Amino acid sequence: MCDSADCCCESDYGHNAIPVPELFGTNVFNDRMMRERLPKDTYKALRKTINTGVALAPEVASVVANAMMTWAIERGASHYTHWFQPLTGATAEKHDSFISPTDDGGVIMEFSGKQLIQGEPDASSFPSGGLRVTFEARGYTAWDCTSPAFLKEDGAGDVTLCIPTAFCSYNGEALDKKTPLLRSMNAVSKHALRVLRAMGNTKSATVLSTVGAEQEYFLVEREFYQQRLDLMSCGRTLFGAPAPKGQELEDQYFGAIKDRVSAYMKDLDVELWKMGISSKTKHNEVAPAQFEMAPVFTTTNMATDHNQLVMETMQKVALRHDMVCLLHEKPYAGVNGSGKHNNWSLSTDDGINLLEPGQTPEDNAQFLIFISALLKAVDVHADIMRATCGSSGNDHRLGANEAPPAIISVFLGQELSDVLEKLAKGEKISKTDAQTLKIGVDSLPELPKDNTDRNRTSPFAFTGNKFEFRMVGSSQSIAGPNVALNTIAAEALDEIATRLEKAKDVNKEILAILTEVMKAHGRIVFNGNNYSEDWVKEAEKRGLPNVRNTVDALKAFVSPKAIKLFGKYNVLSKDELHSRYDIYVEQYAKHINIEAMTAIQMTRRQYVPAAIRFITELGASLAAAGKLGTVQKELLEQVSKHLDAAAKKVVKLEEEAQKAQAIDKVEKQAATFRDKVMPAAVSLRVDIDALEAILPVDLWPVPTYSEMLFKL
Ligand code: ADP
Ligand code: MG
Repeated sequence: MCDSADCCCESDYGHNAIPVPELFGTNVFNDRMMRERLPKDTYKALRKTINTGVALAPEVASVVANAMMTWAIERGASHYTHWFQPLTGATAEKHDSFISPTDDGGVIMEFSGKQLIQGEPDASSFPSGGLRVTFEARGYTAWDCTSPAFLKEDGAGDVTLCIPTAFCSYNGEALDKKTPLLRSMNAVSKHALRVLRAMGNTKSATVLSTVGAEQEYFLVEREFYQQRLDLMSCGRTLFGAPAPKGQELEDQYFGAIKDRVSAYMKDLDVELWKMGISSKTKHNEVAPAQFEMAPVFTTTNMATDHNQLVMETMQKVALRHDMVCLLHEKPYAGVNGSGKHNNWSLSTDDGINLLEPGQTPEDNAQFLIFISALLKAVDVHADIMRATCGSSGNDHRLGANEAPPAIISVFLGQELSDVLEKLAKGEKISKTDAQTLKIGVDSLPELPKDNTDRNRTSPFAFTGNKFEFRMVGSSQSIAGPNVALNTIAAEALDEIATRLEKAKDVNKEILAILTEVMKAHGRIVFNGNNYSEDWVKEAEKRGLPNVRNTVDALKAFVSPKAIKLFGKYNVLSKDELHSRYDIYVEQYAKHINIEAMTAIQMTRRQYVPAAIRFITELGASLAAAGKLGTVQKELLEQVSKHLDAAAKKVVKLEEEAQKAQAIDKVEKQAATFRDKVMPAAVSLRVDIDALEAILPVDLWPVPTYSEMLFKL
């Protein structure tokens, strides 16, 4: 043991801890473990299923299941679960033990191939948007062997074997986030490979979309959290006068990490590493008490599973440190909210990043073709990209001068934009336009090699070898945005592949495609400041949509264009899209309703009584001071004014909420929550926050912004 008195060596990672390379992935039944534990033939068969998607033979599945169970039991597990991602945005698990009774009254531990491959959870309580009628309450979970099984340890020491699964209805309709994600990965893979083949690549066997999701979060003292009904039931503060200090000194971003937070981050790293999640970067973010963790990228599918685990683990570990992790997009007014940077690219199985400018001229022609495909895709389907980031929480962020606006545009960097623009105009490109890279088509220029010019305000930025989609909300599953990205990319690549396959002169056709894309879709490129008012006007002139709220944004999921797109690539059927749309609209309405109910309770049970107490004190003081009590009198007037207003506004909020609740058409209901209930709550906040600024500290019933943001 180490001698340090205050060392936390009971964790697996202290002074005398297990070295990280040994710790990493210990709770994952990963490739190394499969190779070690499975008979050679079984391993080969499973690998083939993972790589190519061919069905796994039942006898193979039962060998895999048995090896997995033995491994899990050795590490303390007694239960397994089919771990899935319903449309709530969270994850779901039902634990079954391995025990199976024997004739002599004992038990043996058993886990069959069938149990590994398929589960039948009673799914009637998960949102299905009408896809699963109640008499067919069963949902089916199916093993997704492209994401490895893992062990989850809880604080009580319980260990569970988690099998990542997709969740469908009896008819095979997707009831979850993973099914369309896997379908979209197939679609983009297929058409990206066609483009590669048409451009002469005969070596790469598959293309995979890759993602690295940077996760922002806040930490708050657990004691404060528990005293705030709004944090507990909505994940954000509905009230709160601004603290005297906010983020204006810019002293938090990348600042020295406090010991307490550092201990948390270390603990978090260990938990993530054990589950094979390659947590790589950690730092303080812009707002006080705000932080970020970024993992190393992996396949979109695993990145999505991992991000769900990251969010869950962040919250779990925080409690151990007497803190609460807030994943809401806007926990506090007046300081930055949290997002998730979804870094996305396409890679071949032989290690070529298709969005990376390469060494040879041929590589760079290929690079420009993939960039163009994305430009076209994002321009044509900007509305869908926007819709995937719609949530009541994210509405507070997008367009609020801290996150990208609700307008989708693409940042390419000046040099790359210039090259593409000149190409489109048929102008000659000089060496100074582009410094280092050669392109394989005679009339194509050299390309700038290192695109280090970063634009932090763009919603969709090219950052040298990947696109960074920055609109995604911090609490959201990244599945939706990536389903959209993969599918819109698949469509653009499909069209390009078809042209290249037919072309007599491929080089000429490449040039024609690049030119056409820039002419038709160049408007989506914007390299300036996306936070400025000028951009909002300019975007309007360019005809780019600016959809400012979730209720309107979500409509893009059920437009004829979306139905055609997702249908064509077998990602989501019309019914599946409609069910998703209904669920998301309903979720929006429910969230605003919870916020309204919370605001009403806090006002009636905490703020109004506090103001009355102060009035009573002031009244007594005024009686004692008599004519001299001018300050008391003035305060009495102020407090009474806000108290009166708050009392009226809370009644109004309640009425508006009741009216909205009574509407049965979900779309109209959500719009009413947006147009009537939200403004009523915002108006109520004005008076409560004004009271907070006047009332004595000891009479204020809840922790303040200063306490929550700075006392960590
Ligand atoms: P930042 O954007 O903060 O400057 P980095 O450029 O280092 O940070 O990368 C941020 C994230 O992008 C990381 O999660 C990283 O793994 C991920 N990333 C890097 N390359 C790729 C890629 N080819 N595909 C997907 N994600 C990637
Ligand atoms: Mg980033």
